[in-house]
Parts: sequence; C-alpha cells; structure tokens
Amino acid sequence: MSKKVYDEISIKGLEIFAYHGVFPEENKLGQKFIINATLYVETRGAGLTDNLELSVDYGTVCHQIKNFLTTNTYKLLERCAEELATHILISNPLVHEIDLEIEKPCAPIGLSLDTVSVKIHRAWHDVAIALGSNMGDTKRYLDDAVKKIGELKNTTVIKVADYISTKPYGGVEQDDFLNSAMLIRTLYTPNELLDELHRIENEAGRERTIHWGPRTLDLDILLYDDLVMETSELTIPHVEMHLRDFVLKPLAQIAPWLRHPVYGETVDQMLKKTVTYNV
Ligand code: ADP
Ligand code: MG
Repeated sequence: MSKKVYDEISIKGLEIFAYHGVFPEENKLGQKFIINATLYVETRGAGLTDNLELSVDYGTVCHQIKNFLTTNTYKLLERCAEELATHILISNPLVHEIDLEIEKPCAPIGLSLDTVSVKIHRAWHDVAIALGSNMGDTKRYLDDAVKKIGELKNTTVIKVADYISTKPYGGVEQDDFLNSAMLIRTLYTPNELLDELHRIENEAGRERTIHWGPRTLDLDILLYDDLVMETSELTIPHVEMHLRDFVLKPLAQIAPWLRHPVYGETVDQMLKKTVTYNV
C-alpha cells in the first residue's frame, strides 16, 4: 500500500455562477466562483493508446462541477469543497486523489481583495480490516459485518477472504474463533472508519468486558494505505497484526504482497515467521 505517484490532470479557473454563502443575499443574488482542480490519475494507458476511456474526460468533470455547484446551495466554502470533492471521486473511479480549490473573488466582506479560497486534498484510501467472532452464530456475525461494511458511505469492498476457524488467543478460556480479513477502498479518515466499525460491533451486541475475551464481533483496522499513527484510540498498523496468524492467514489469501510500513515485511513474510514461532 505504499504511496503511489500519479499523473495530474489540471482544471484552472473554471468560472461558475452559484448561490453559496452565509448571507441570505448571497443565496438570492448569487456570485462568481472559480474552481481549480488537480485530478490524480494514471494516464499511461491513454498515453500509449490515445483512448479516452483509459483516462478521465476533463470536459465531463467540468460539467459535473457546474451541475453540482448550481443544483446544491451551501453556506460554507468548506462544505462546498468537501461535497464536490466526494462527488468527483465517486463519479470518476479513475481519479484516485484530488486537490480542489474553490475561490470566491467577490466575497461580500466590505473590503477589497483579489480572491479568497478554500483548498482541500481528498483521496481514496486502501484499508485492510480483520474480522473475528466466537460467540453464537459466528458465520452470521461475519456475514452481517461484511454486508454492513459494504453499505458504508463512500466505501467499496475490494475482496473478502474465506472464513477460517482458529483457536483462541490471549490465555482466556473460550470457544474457537471464526476469522477473516477484507480489503476496502474508502473516503473515511481512520477515526471515522473506526467509529463506523465500533457502531457495527455494537449492533452485533458486542460487549467490552474481558480483554481478549469472547466477542460476537471484532473489527480491527490492520493497514490504512501506508499510514503509521498512534493515538489513545487508534494504532495503525494494528499493534499485533504481525504476530497473529489468525489475522495474517486470511489477509495472505487476498493480499500476500501488502507490506507492513514499520517492519517492512509483506503479509506473506510475516505469516511465515508466525508459523515458525508457533511450531
Ligand atoms: P482487541 O481488538 O485488541 O481484542 P478491542 O476490540 O476490545 O480489542 O479494542 C479495544 C480498543 O482498541 C478499541 O476501542 C480501539 O479504540 C482500540 N484500537 C487501537 N487500534 C485499533 C485498530 N487498529 N483497530 C481497531 N481498534 C483499535
Ligand atoms: Mg478490536
């Protein structure tokens, strides 16, 4: 999941008349907005074949921007930019990342200025998730979790590993686990995704009682692009993923080549080591 360098398609100075603003007059009278966007795309295929279908049609994107900004009205430029970036990423699957700037050169602030703008960067993120259950109908808990993750906003399921039955870990006497792993593509930030996973765990009746104890559903974020982060709520990569064969086995089935951004080893290499330790 190492960070890729993409080619860029730029749109500069696209002028749109629209009605966004905090003041009621702005929503009534409207004003000029200027849009600048950089679309991060792989243009190699189109470059070799001259086939537009292998790239992104900037004309189409300009019209998408115009339609979006004239059919919705927001108070804040921040919200305009957020919603528009999402709309472009969702509508154009070949766009992996976007820089989007919305300028409001006639902003009614009672002073003269050249322009004012909000600029954001948004991207699709590749995430690996571990799933586990060892209470009740374990297969149904995993099936429901896969389905609910697939229904998350601005998220696509790429692959789901077979479910495997494993022995419990952490020294607590309990039933066997059913484990799996999945790859998704999402616009959620790590913390937003964790909140969604917690909600899905809670809906499965998960109670946090004994650490490493029995659970209806456990959903962990293993890898998020090549991000390394540590806060009180969230550690990415998951702290113990490199040691847990019940995590690495299903992940190796769907993405053996993924590389741990701290230890530098692939899922396959980490799995081979856990097998050696566990013999
Ligand atoms: P475990 O998964 O280790 O058995 P829990 O599911 O009870 O434990 O998770 C406890 C806490 O771990 C969660 O509330 C969450 O805030 C935190 N956590 C830290 N890193 C991660 C991660 N990568 N994925 C999921 N939860 C994490
Ligand atoms: Mg967990």
